[in-house]
Amino acid sequence: MKKPPEIKINKFQLAVLLDKVNKEFYHFVIANSVYCSNCNAIAVEGIEVDEVFLTDLNDIKVRGRCRVCNGEVARLFEFGKDREFYDKANKLRDLSSLT
Ligand SMILES: [Zn+2]
Repeated sequence: MKKPPEIKINKFQLAVLLDKVNKEFYHFVIANSVYCSNCNAIAVEGIEVDEVFLTDLNDIKVRGRCRVCNGEVARLFEFGKDREFYDKANKLRDLSSLT
C-alpha cells in the first residue's frame, strides 16, 4: 500500500482525531513530557504548540516552542499504531482532499 503524504492539520481536525484517552495523553505530554534540547531537560513549563502534522504513518507530530527558553521542540505521538486511530485519520484525509 502506498504511504499517504504528511499533511498539516488544524486544532479542530486534531480534536476530531483524538478520543478521550488520546486527548488526555496528548495534553499531559504537551504540559509535562516534551524534551527540550536547548534546556537539555524536559520542558518543565510545557510547550506552546505551533504546528500539528499527520505523518505518513498517521502518527501525530507536533512542532512548538519550549515555554522556558522559547527553543524549538518537536514531539511524535505514535497514535497511528492504533488501528482505530489509523482508520479515522484516513477518513480525515479523504474529507480534507474534497475541500
Ligand atoms: Zn527549553
